[in-house]
Amino acid sequence: MKLKEIYNSTKPVISFEVFPPKIKSPEEKKHKMQALLCELSRLSKYNPAFISVTYGAGGGTRETTFELVLMIKDELNIQPMPHFTCVGSARNEILQYIKKFESHGIYNILALRGDPPRGEKKFVKPKDGFGYANELVEFINAKTGLGIGVAGYPECHPDCCSLEVDIQNLKRKVDSGAEAVITQLFYDNQRYFDFVEKARLAGINIPIIPGILPITSHNQLDKIVTLSGCALPAQFMADLEKNKNNPEAIKTIGLDFSVNQCKELLENGMPGIHFYTLNKAFAVKNILDRLEINKNEYSGV
Ligand code: FAD
Repeated sequence: MKLKEIYNSTKPVISFEVFPPKIKSPEEKKHKMQALLCELSRLSKYNPAFISVTYGAGGGTRETTFELVLMIKDELNIQPMPHFTCVGSARNEILQYIKKFESHGIYNILALRGDPPRGEKKFVKPKDGFGYANELVEFINAKTGLGIGVAGYPECHPDCCSLEVDIQNLKRKVDSGAEAVITQLFYDNQRYFDFVEKARLAGINIPIIPGILPITSHNQLDKIVTLSGCALPAQFMADLEKNKNNPEAIKTIGLDFSVNQCKELLENGMPGIHFYTLNKAFAVKNILDRLEINKNEYSGV
């Protein structure tokens, strides 16, 4: 099913994100890919509509992304959604790569600009490539029959001067053919609700799916805040700080927070939730069990 049909469901649509494991040797590759599939098989009973697979910054995971996508489809019988970025690719290479997905029975792709390569401050448009995601969306839309997802930023993309301008740029992606928006992770639902309201006022009428990353350890905190730039509610932050030397308490606080966050999102009619799994089943499983979203809730196949 393409994204447009997936989000036509009256039930909450659950989806997961994974990344290709870092691999040093062929033996390690076999082992790590199987371990990841094993984790994902523990989540398959929640009937995800799709599992998205990231594309390494700079295109470094091009082949492993492709292999993992096929493994998810063939071994778990779940629709994968590969991510793809404009970084370092010219149009002809892009077309070759994405057509391969289409010919292997993949229905959707997440089209991104990508970040500048490490050590560089600004994104540089590749020769004969694309400078912004909306150009990539337009290209994929013209050249393939894939359903296209794009990224959205409830707290504004870090390169952009204001949320209003960023939303106008999001609209370009929608006008170019995107069928759904998946958001950057966030912890303050109000910021997400405001973002959706502003996007609707700007004429964006496709589903905007909240991206949720449960916090299960204190180590994650700095990374999350630095990488995503998202704000943590003061009380949540204080609770995490107070318990920083108690890993079990952090887990409980983080999972309780995510359960409540998802509950509020679903109660307010959000079409689904996209979980950043960090390649582990434990946290998402705990949350979905407590939300009582199980295999009878939705069939995405
Ligand atoms: P764009 O939509 O092109 O926006 C980039 C910046 O340019 C924004 O500030 C925007 O306001 C501005 N802009 C957009 N269009 C125009 C225009 N036409 N004219 C002027 N300004 C414009 N990165 C990876 O490397 N691999 C992944 O797998 C990956 N997966 C992701 C999944 C999700 C759900 C999200 C939210 C992000 C993901 N990223 C990934 C990160 C993403 O690549 C970066 O955030 C990147 O900096 C922006 O990508 P984008 O597609 O949002 O870019």
